[in-house]
Amino acid sequence: MPEHEAAFTCKRCGNCCQGQGGIVLTGRDEDRLSAFLGLCVSVFRTRYTEKYGKKRVLATKTGNVCIFFEAKSGCTVHPNKPDICRSWPFFRGNLLDELSWLMAQDSCPGINPGVGHREFVCQGLCFLQKQGLQQQPGARTPAALVVADLYQKLT
Ligand code: SF4
Ligand code: SF4
Repeated sequence: MPEHEAAFTCKRCGNCCQGQGGIVLTGRDEDRLSAFLGLCVSVFRTRYTEKYGKKRVLATKTGNVCIFFEAKSGCTVHPNKPDICRSWPFFRGNLLDELSWLMAQDSCPGINPGVGHREFVCQGLCFLQKQGLQQQPGARTPAALVVADLYQKLT
């Protein structure tokens, strides 16, 4: 698809790698990242994560930046990054609500305002399905990735 028709093309600005508690991990994320780093899950948890209510999130370092983000190279776990990082900006809120989509554009220059919200929804749902990124509701699940009900509602 030509870039001007894509609802999203990451510009690698790093804005979405800042902030505390935003990167909620699934069990699948923990397994993938632990294997990538050559650690058992319990050591991975101790070194790189924090509890955040009932959820487990990636820790942050000085400046409230993700523990895996480096200014020069960006995401140091890119091929194995958490599902929530893979799914942005196609989060439930941005799919359901045009205003959220508009506001997300303030911090994410990768979102293409030119395609419109409806096309964003279509491409987003298609992407999440193809990549197997949808999640079932659960205490540890990132709510942003619970989208199965949206396929009937929005398409
Ligand atoms: S804020 Fe958007 S464009 Fe910037 S790195 Fe994150 S996803 Fe990519
Ligand atoms: S895991 Fe990678 S993409 Fe996700 S917030 Fe951290 S540095 Fe950014």
